[in-house]
Amino acid sequence: MADVVDIAIVGGGVAGLSLAAALRGRARTVVLETEPSLYLHTSSRSAEQMQPTYGPDAARRLTSASIPLVARIAERLGEPIFTPRPLLWLSYADDRTELEHLLATVPGLTELGAREAVRRLPALRPDLLRDAAVDDSAVEVRVPALLEAYRAAAEAGGVRILLSSPLTRVEQAGERWRLTAGDRTIEAAIVVNAAGAWAERVGALVGGAPRGLVPKRRTVAVVEPTARPVEPGWPMAADAADTFYFRPRGATLLGCVLEDEPSEPEDARPRPDVVARVVARLNAVTDLALTGATSAWTGLRTVAPDGLPVVGRDAEVPGLYWLAGQGGFGIQTSAALGEVVAADLLGVPSGLDGLDGVLEAIRPDRDALAAAATAVGAESPV
Ligand SMILES: Cc1cc2nc3c(=O)[nH]c(=O)nc-3n(C[C@H](O)[C@H](O)[C@H](O)COP(=O)(O)OP(=O)(O)OC[C@H]3O[C@@H](n4cnc5c(N)ncnc54)[C@H](O)[C@@H]3O)c2cc1C
Repeated sequence: MADVVDIAIVGGGVAGLSLAAALRGRARTVVLETEPSLYLHTSSRSAEQMQPTYGPDAARRLTSASIPLVARIAERLGEPIFTPRPLLWLSYADDRTELEHLLATVPGLTELGAREAVRRLPALRPDLLRDAAVDDSAVEVRVPALLEAYRAAAEAGGVRILLSSPLTRVEQAGERWRLTAGDRTIEAAIVVNAAGAWAERVGALVGGAPRGLVPKRRTVAVVEPTARPVEPGWPMAADAADTFYFRPRGATLLGCVLEDEPSEPEDARPRPDVVARVVARLNAVTDLALTGATSAWTGLRTVAPDGLPVVGRDAEVPGLYWLAGQGGFGIQTSAALGEVVAADLLGVPSGLDGLDGVLEAIRPDRDALAAAATAVGAESPV
């Protein structure tokens, strides 16, 4: 006998759980997760930042809308969830091209100059730095607490979360989908594809055409200083030319060299050569004399050809809804995206300001994506 629900969300990462929390009490909802525990994959492997000046316009606006929503979650939890962590955008190029571009295109950035950047983050080598800008609105977020808050809100509102329940088979049953997930059978009017790196596979199971989504490896390493202590209150630093970022993590540094290698959807693991590059790059731009990494982790950022999320109803497959392609901004956009998608699924306004046109920009049948999906889908590793 099949369980009957309105909405089956495939994927128990931040995308699926934030939507489940937003749907609580408003629709019969189930979350299907392959693994025996939630958020085992990319959602637990981030750098834990919410930066309103990072990512494409749609992501930046969703991030700005998410910060007050997450602040409200923290109020409910009765414990802090944010640490202020301004983001320094650094320019090492004499011509300032990347920094000029950021300042011209990204609202919320303030010109700072190299000297002030070094004053705020004294470990930076002043002889190399040419210029800097700052986003003072950026914060660090306690991701485990956020994910737990989404889960708890969803379950308290009647959402059922089924672990060890990989979606493997999808059939049409009248107006609904009949889903085989582990040893369970579920009938749902709508399947939401929030499967992260597996989104192309889940989309194909339900009959959706490829969207050109490609999982890409990204590693962060935790490194210890030997020359001077790390101040936990230092800002985060990111190269405007995208060759590194780092921030304090307690008395250590968390750093990344932004590798972007396509991957199969899998449980990704760090590679020693990438970890060594993190140590070398951060040693080149700081005076911290960092030693080898004490820990490292790798996640898969799933990216569409135009870098925007892929969110909305599949125009060709009624009852399939995409919630994928959040790339490097799935945590920071999750609260607002969950609310916007829940409202879209229920056919009601989201009540959030500043998001006009966002769903239109990220819909799965947008022209740019359809053209690219045909080309990339053929050679995609997924
Ligand atoms: C190193 C790194 C740093 C990052 N830093 C940040 C940051 O600072 N801020 C930020 O906003 N973002 C950051 N990101 C990006 C962010 O982590 C991702 O955008 C986000 O976690 C994606 O969430 P998701 O729920 O789509 O995917 P996932 O967390 O991977 O969840 C997808 C889930 O779907 C499940 N699944 C797959 N197939 C099936 C199936 N057939 N049936 C059932 N379940 C299935 C999987 O098991 C998985 O649990 C970072 C990413 C990386 C790798």
